[in-house]
Amino acid sequence: VDLPIHEAVLGRAAEFGDAPALIDGTDGTTLGYAQVDRFHRRVSAGLAEAGVRKGDVLALHSPNTVAFPLAFYAATRAGASVTTVHPLATAEEFAKQLTDCAARWIVTVSPLLETARRAAELAGGVREVFVCDSAPGHRSLTDMLGSTAIEPVVAIDPVEDIAVLPYSSGTTGLPKGVMLTHRQIATNLVQLEPAVTTGPGDRVLAVLPFFHIYGLTALMNGPLRQGATVVVLPRFDLEQFLAAIQNHRITDLYVAPPIVLALAKHPLVAQYDLSSLKRVTSAAAPLDARLAAACSARLGLPPVGQAYGMTELSPGTHVVPMDATADAPPGTVGKLIAGTEMRLVSLDDPGTDLGPGESGEILIRGPQIMKGYLGRPDATAAMIDPEGWLHTGDVGHVDADGWLFVVDRVKELIKYKGFQVAPAELEALLLTHPDIADAAVIGGYDENGNEIPHAHVVRRPTAPALTESEVMAYVAGQVAPYKRVRRVTFIDGVPRAASGKILRRQLRERT
Ligand code: ATP
Ligand code: MG
Repeated sequence: VDLPIHEAVLGRAAEFGDAPALIDGTDGTTLGYAQVDRFHRRVSAGLAEAGVRKGDVLALHSPNTVAFPLAFYAATRAGASVTTVHPLATAEEFAKQLTDCAARWIVTVSPLLETARRAAELAGGVREVFVCDSAPGHRSLTDMLGSTAIEPVVAIDPVEDIAVLPYSSGTTGLPKGVMLTHRQIATNLVQLEPAVTTGPGDRVLAVLPFFHIYGLTALMNGPLRQGATVVVLPRFDLEQFLAAIQNHRITDLYVAPPIVLALAKHPLVAQYDLSSLKRVTSAAAPLDARLAAACSARLGLPPVGQAYGMTELSPGTHVVPMDATADAPPGTVGKLIAGTEMRLVSLDDPGTDLGPGESGEILIRGPQIMKGYLGRPDATAAMIDPEGWLHTGDVGHVDADGWLFVVDRVKELIKYKGFQVAPAELEALLLTHPDIADAAVIGGYDENGNEIPHAHVVRRPTAPALTESEVMAYVAGQVAPYKRVRRVTFIDGVPRAASGKILRRQLRERT
């Protein structure tokens, strides 16, 4: 699909007219589709007048707000590549990203301005810091709405030009800048569309961050392209989240497993009217079938559907069609989308392709594969082989009907006496224990230096006396002996990335 991203998403905005596109979930501020169309064009004119040129990198540093998409599409319309920044990044982390991608411009919000200014100082090379709202001494995007500057006419080459430069979650190492072209992003939106039925009249709650590729796609580009209404929340707070579903009559949730866990288990959920919900979709990390079933049963909804992808894949390759979640086997992440190829290859012998039921590494080839990691040709070559197959680093298998199941990441598999144990499987099992609020499993080492499954467990406040041997016995009663948990550490909370993934390496650093 050879369209610039702002055209792919907002091409029909005028047609959707006064229908609400964006609602601020905290104060109710509403922008209609025609307004979003007009406003992002005005801001794009303002940015161009301020000096933003084709090929410049603009860092967008903001929690979810209704201004975020305006700033994003304004920047791409002006020809910039947008690198999205974690709003909680420290000045030092932000500066590293600015330096890594040679950013020339920053768009931030006044509460984060000090961090942004400090980052710009540390990095050098940033010409100007804009704010979405207002701050003394800084040009604001709100003021640009009144700009009489002429809308820039920028010739964008969708095949070559970088639309977005997101950084991967940094689950396995340092985050890497991922170059995604306009065509890659736009193509993936179209590939996912047959399975994603959210459309006019539906209301999506944008609670996962827009700065991460999952939020950017499922909560911003996708629903705005399809004419739905996006209700925006700046962060995940369970009460605010539940209240927003109730008060804004939310129909569609796109979440990550920790939110499914909260919906399935948290006592607060019972205090809200969530009857407007029609569908819940989860992605970004392994979701256990039992947990998914507990969530849909409690909410009285069709089964929770999943999707699978990664930043390097713009991001999706698999999804359970949203109108057919009841037909999908429990636990599947979905079927391969159109125009994309997949192979499953043996972990021991990467030359061998596997059949249904056999687990191996997931390889993907298709038009949505990233252009590469920014400034890291070696890392790119290690990821994409000469035949164009991207090695995901994830382990999975398909059933005879082609439904994909993701087991875990290759690197996270624990090798116990020659057997492979997937931490995700043990985490899912631990969560079925009534006294366990949350859990993460990593490879630890016994006295002899052998790798063993080591569980980190958060007790429920109602069960402070839960012991290590109780936890180990619970798991031992339900798994083959090689999968048993051999050590338990009780912790206050499981460290997670903003996208919901367990940061197992942080737990490893602690032990
Ligand atoms: P980094 O590459 O920086 O270490 P990351 O891989 O977590 O971080 P993302 O691109 O945000 O960065 O995440 C992609 C990964 O998320 C996939 O490789 C996969 O491991 C996991 N994932 C995504 N969707 C699912 C899903 N439905 N089930 C299981 N795992 C998933
Ligand atoms: Mg990754």
